[in-house]
Amino acid sequence: MPPEPALDDRQALACLLRILAPTWQENFAGHITVATDDGSMLVNPWGLWWEEVTAADIVRVAADGRVVEGRWDVTPAVHLHTELHRARTDARVIVHNHPPAATALACLGIEPVIAHQNSAIFAADIVVVDEYDGTVESAAAGSRLAAAIGSATCVVLANHGAIVTAGTFAEAAYKAVTFERMCALTLAASQTGTRLRPLPPAVLAPLKDELYRNAPAAFWGGAVRGLLAREPSTINLNAGNLNAGNLNAGEGGAP
Ligand SMILES: [Zn+2]
Repeated sequence: MPPEPALDDRQALACLLRILAPTWQENFAGHITVATDDGSMLVNPWGLWWEEVTAADIVRVAADGRVVEGRWDVTPAVHLHTELHRARTDARVIVHNHPPAATALACLGIEPVIAHQNSAIFAADIVVVDEYDGTVESAAAGSRLAAAIGSATCVVLANHGAIVTAGTFAEAAYKAVTFERMCALTLAASQTGTRLRPLPPAVLAPLKDELYRNAPAAFWGGAVRGLLAREPSTINLNAGNLNAGNLNAGEGGAP
């Protein structure tokens, strides 16, 4: 297998945002954070769409959500991430947005079903947070959400969207796209009136281990190579594609 692309955290986050934009982005909404060793976290800026972020645009925030580095502001819903990172050291990367199929399930009140073999990577890791609690614009709201999520790595947020947590960029990328595919299968089944065949329980644990071992690195490597062939400026650390003076960064709005 080709070696994993050599990227620093800002470059990898910019790549992850663009790789997930086609399947996870609801226009300007959504955020991905990466916890760093000093207790801060990196996040995409407020007001830029995932598909246009470069490494130079990535913002650093402190554990309380204050911007401490970068030329942009961040989402008012940053506490969805700060409190989950605080509660979960395994969740180095946290992806949140409103992908179509997962969000449809979130609004229908349907739990995704592990029926396809690749969905086994989520075995025992899915939770549906079934009470809508408003937008997560305070540390208290973020703490309540983190408590409701518990140890799950894949979350359907009722009337809202989805969260995927991961230990690495590669796992975040693969789990996010696979989660949305699992939700699309569940949604398709609900439209036919046919029940999905769940995978036999006995195969779940070994299949999950195998998927973690083999799938994320292969997915991430190919996705990054393809992205950088098409959009090499994604990993530019010195200059973004936008001039900060051209946008009213940080002026509120729906997260
Ligand atoms: Zn949201």
